[in-house]
Amino acid sequence: MTIALYPGSFDPITHGHLDIIKRASSLFDELIIGVYDRPDKRLLFHTKERVEMVQQAVAHLSNVQVRPYSELTIDLAKKVGAQVMVRGLRMSSDFDREFEMAMMNKKLAPDLELVCFMASLQYQFLSSGLLKEVAQLGGCLENMVADHVATALRNKFGTRVSQA
Ligand code: ADP
Repeated sequence: MTIALYPGSFDPITHGHLDIIKRASSLFDELIIGVYDRPDKRLLFHTKERVEMVQQAVAHLSNVQVRPYSELTIDLAKKVGAQVMVRGLRMSSDFDREFEMAMMNKKLAPDLELVCFMASLQYQFLSSGLLKEVAQLGGCLENMVADHVATALRNKFGTRVSQA
């Protein structure tokens, strides 16, 4: 049985993340989504909110579980018995950072394999960061996030985020 771990900030979860989750969950027996508690970036949503949004988005996928974590990702992988770490790659922008992290993780946990999924064409330019900017200014989030995420963004910013 192969258990895979998909770690990230998910601030908030987008259709790009969800696309990776669906593809990974059909490839591996079990997929655990690790929601990192303290990434090196300014967060909009608290960890509890990010976890709940991911949980709601993946509720229909029976082999997917969600959990927050604050330790090293490789330590979470060990704890949950994951043999594989999943990440998503968009155009060239993600490669350098992912490569650097992959090399460090390989040094720290040689048995943990990294599987990168190429982002689907329609989500190549979708990032949580850009999404938050659009949401803050009341832009349309159609085909970018689930309804409950659009609502959460609207509530955070006090804007009318359109979701046609
Ligand atoms: P992190 O802080 O770990 O980069 P993110 O939530 O930004 O957390 O991203 C988690 C993972 O999902 C990363 O591997 C990232 O490259 C990938 N990802 C983010 N957005 C997309 C997208 N639109 N399509 C595919 N993969 C994505």
